[in-house]
Amino acid sequence: MTIDVLSLTRALVRYDTINPPGDEEACARHVGALLETAGFAVAYHEFAPRRTSLIARIGGADAPPLCFTGHIDVVPLGTRPWTHDPFAGETDGGRLYGRGTSDMKSGVAAIVVAATQLAKHVAGTRGLVLVITAGEETGCTGALHLASRPGVLGRAGAVVVAEPTGNRPLVGHKGALWLTARASGVTAHGSMPEHGVNAVYKAARAVTKLERFEFDVARHPVLGPPTLNVGTFHGGLNINSVPDAAEAQIDIRSIPDQRHEAVVDLLAEVLGDDVTLKPIVDVEGVWTDPDDPWMREVVEVAARVTGERPAIGAAPYFTDASALTPAYGGAPTVILGPGEMALAHQTDEYCVIDRLGEAVEIYVDLARRWCRL
Ligand SMILES: [Zn+2]
Repeated sequence: MTIDVLSLTRALVRYDTINPPGDEEACARHVGALLETAGFAVAYHEFAPRRTSLIARIGGADAPPLCFTGHIDVVPLGTRPWTHDPFAGETDGGRLYGRGTSDMKSGVAAIVVAATQLAKHVAGTRGLVLVITAGEETGCTGALHLASRPGVLGRAGAVVVAEPTGNRPLVGHKGALWLTARASGVTAHGSMPEHGVNAVYKAARAVTKLERFEFDVARHPVLGPPTLNVGTFHGGLNINSVPDAAEAQIDIRSIPDQRHEAVVDLLAEVLGDDVTLKPIVDVEGVWTDPDDPWMREVVEVAARVTGERPAIGAAPYFTDASALTPAYGGAPTVILGPGEMALAHQTDEYCVIDRLGEAVEIYVDLARRWCRL
């Protein structure tokens, strides 16, 4: 079965899977039908109605398979007008335009094309498992759902995340811990503040302690230090009342040495009793030793196909590997996909068409080596 990677990317871009709200079902069924025709066993999993992820398997003997993963939801279009229709799949000068062309329907298409090309040779080998997820953009919801259900993901010996890297292999990324810090008070008329307890003062006192906060961990040699930012602060409903609630949102980007539970405990201590913390997004970082033998192989394959050999690097964003890699026992994980990193989430998002074929070639080579074909 031969599927053209450009046509498949365009076909996937035409599904409106903008998240929020997210509606991945039709796109997931499109991908699943192609894989089923090629001989994969496909199972669909919904974390909510029409929020569909899928797992497709082929082969699988004594040793664990190679996992390829990608998400099919995309971010909203933003407020600026697009010069290209975000859902038409228009091409122009070697570029394919549309929401999700880089992040990351091109990556999903390249995975599917590589997998279907090899399908009939893979039976009786270590095999392949494809994990195509819904709900990644709002905090790996689909992948965390799959990982939380015993036995659903099965095993994998290594993971390829097809997020946009311009086909450069990246060996890890930071984690994300997003927290709400909430303070409560007692409301009263604004002319009689002595009868109330002002939640804004409580929250403000707590949150300003974060301005000079520093984590007590060594800087990671590639990922750098962990960071913390207060992104929002809201309190009160109307000018002439004492506010009884105030809330700040805190965005922490962690490094793999940090456990998020310990970070929450530490911040709770720093902020004090006036606020309570609640996680909104909680996905840990991933890191694979660049000297890991499989990672070295990935770097060689990518260099051969692209003719480029960039320095060891990490992704600036988080990925579904935060959920999948721990579920696969810390399997070596590379982030490598055909999209352009700088175009993710942008107005007039595009991918470079030449990168699509390169990604297919890289994935086919990695799968062949894994399955000893
Ligand atoms: Zn993405």
